[in-house]
Order: sequence, then C-alpha cells, then structure tokens
Amino acid sequence: MELRIQHLSKKYSTGVQALNDISLTIPAGMFGLLGPNGAGKSTLMRTLATLQDADSGTAHLDAIDIRTHKDTVRRMLGYLPQDFGLYPKVSAYDLLDHFAVLKGLDQRKERKEVVEALLHQTNLYNVKNKHVGGFSGGMRQRFGIAQALLGDPQLIIVDEPTAGLDPEERVRFHNLLSDIGADKIVILSTHIVEDVADLCNHMAVIDKGSVILTGQPLQLIDQIQGKIWKRFIDKAELAQFQQQYQVISSRLTAGRTLIHVYADAHPGEGFSTTQGDLEDVYFSAMAGLLQHGAATGSRAA
Ligand code: ADP
Repeated sequence: MELRIQHLSKKYSTGVQALNDISLTIPAGMFGLLGPNGAGKSTLMRTLATLQDADSGTAHLDAIDIRTHKDTVRRMLGYLPQDFGLYPKVSAYDLLDHFAVLKGLDQRKERKEVVEALLHQTNLYNVKNKHVGGFSGGMRQRFGIAQALLGDPQLIIVDEPTAGLDPEERVRFHNLLSDIGADKIVILSTHIVEDVADLCNHMAVIDKGSVILTGQPLQLIDQIQGKIWKRFIDKAELAQFQQQYQVISSRLTAGRTLIHVYADAHPGEGFSTTQGDLEDVYFSAMAGLLQHGAATGSRAA
C-alpha cells in the first residue's frame, strides 16, 4: 500500500497559500509529517481525509484517486482530526458503538466484539461506562484513536494528537500508535519532533506549504553527524552569534543559553562537537541547510 501525493496546491479565499505544490510518496508504516504551526499540515490532512478539495494536484491510495473516489477512500480511512470535539454526556461504550454503526458495522454481535476490543486496545475498557465528557485529555485522544480504528482502516491519519498531553500520556499514546499494524499507512502530523523521533520510519518536513525535507529519520540523523556544534553563551550574545554563525537552535539549559551551530568544520573556540539528533535535523532543514536528505553546505564563519 502506498499513498502518492502529486503537486497538491491550495489557496484559501483569504489569499493564504496553505499548500504549495506538495509531492510526497508515503509507504506503509508510520510516517511523520513535521512542521511548525501554520505550515499547512492540517490542510493537507483534511485534503487526504477527503474533507476538503485542493485547487490542483492529485493523491492516489494505490490506484484509487482520492478526489474522484471519496466514498471508497472514506471506507478505508481512520481519521483523528486536530479538533476532535465530540465529548457529550454519553458513555465511551455507547459513543464508540454509535460510531461503529456509522462505519457500517450493523451486525450487533460483531459490533460488540469490535467495540470491546478497541476499548481494551486503547486502555479505556475499565472506564467504558463513564461519560467521555469527563475524560482527561489523554483519555480523549485514546478514545479518538479507538474511533479512528473502527472498520479496520488501511489509511490512518492523526493530526497533532499529542499536543497538550502530559509526558506519561504521551508515552502511552506513542505505545498505542506503535501497535497499529506496519502494513497500514499511518500519517502522524505534528509540530513535536520527539513524536516523529520516537515513532516514525519515514518523515517529511513542511514549512509554508512546501516540502522542505523528506527521508528516514535515522539516515537524516546520520547525514548531519560531524556538522553540529554546541556552545554555551551569554543570552546577550545571541544576536552576535546568530550573525557570525549558522545558529540552528538556542535554548536555556540549567539557566544558561546553549546554542547549536551547523558547520562543516570546527567553527572556532569554545565550540565542541555534539551528537546531532532529529531536532538538529529539523532545525537545519528549517534554516534551509538540508534539502530532501542532502546537506547543501553551510555558512561556517
Ligand atoms: P498547520 O496544521 O500546519 O498548523 P494549517 O493547515 O492549519 O497549518 O494552516 C495553514 C495556513 O492556512 C495557515 O496560515 C492558516 O492560518 C491558514 N488556514 C487554515 N485553514 C484555513 C481556512 N479554513 N481559511 C483560511 N485560512 C486557513
């Protein structure tokens, strides 16, 4: 199974170009779509979920054209939208059962088995009689996954699922996602690098509606080894360092400012080499230093 996206573009009536000629091939397995807020991730997810149309371009799920075969795609799709806002005073069991009916599971006995299995899978079985309206953020997201998995979908899209979850719930949610079969396409849209680092074997970075990087996380991390340098500086020096070096990130660490610099060779005194991770890949891509997995050189001082 493969999802092939070719030249998708979308401009909203406000004039915002949310998608700008997006082409991506997404294989079976967990695919991370990473990008900052406003990059166009949700627009792309909604388009792939057949909820809105692009202005131009195509997307095919194997041979199925998702623009012209929306019903077919919907039967194969599980979707957890960013704003899954349905938390009524209904028990988790009854609500999931209701969604199952909507998904076409009309055999009572089979439906009961499916609903109970999903409640077990998402660790909600012991709260199945509680109102989803009273669920915590993490429980809601797990319920969201339960409804997305109804009907054994082959394409599963989850949009920003871990935003707002505490660390423990995030780990729990990651474990749940990683148990979804490797033969399905799972697209995880997120602005959190750690989500992709933990879960995905393929990824893309999008920014301002364009794909700026694609590849496999481990290979991309390999490609930046030896090029990421770190140094502690005074906060007041940041602007000066940014002018002089290709600073890809700065963060407070134990009250001090730690910068990461991208450079092919040792940038100078005070810098030491550091093991690059996916966050360094992401920030290097956002700084325009990596393209589709290939380093494009650097501006070392
Ligand atoms: P992301 O999911 O990466 O945060 P979105 O797809 O939500 O990005 O948004 C991409 C851009 O399109 C943003 O500038 C956003 O403000 C704009 N946008 C999103 N939805 C709409 C809409 N329905 N109408 C107008 N502009 C929109």
